[in-house]
Amino acid sequence: MNLMYSCKRVAELLSQRLDEPLGLIDEMRLRLHLSMCGNCSNVAEQIGAVHAASAELLSNGLEPD
Ligand SMILES: [Zn+2]
Repeated sequence: MNLMYSCKRVAELLSQRLDEPLGLIDEMRLRLHLSMCGNCSNVAEQIGAVHAASAELLSNGLEPD
């Protein structure tokens, strides 16, 4: 049984997670991988920053007034 995701799988999950929440198992495995893989943890940070910035823009744009 393989508990570790590959970096490729992690990248897929990171972008998937922007659209829909991951299942508990996926989320746990993702975090486990990120805690051990500096490479993916950097990628996750970048994706998170970009996502936060675009979410902010979006919500500002949707303000009724
Ligand atoms: Zn990795």
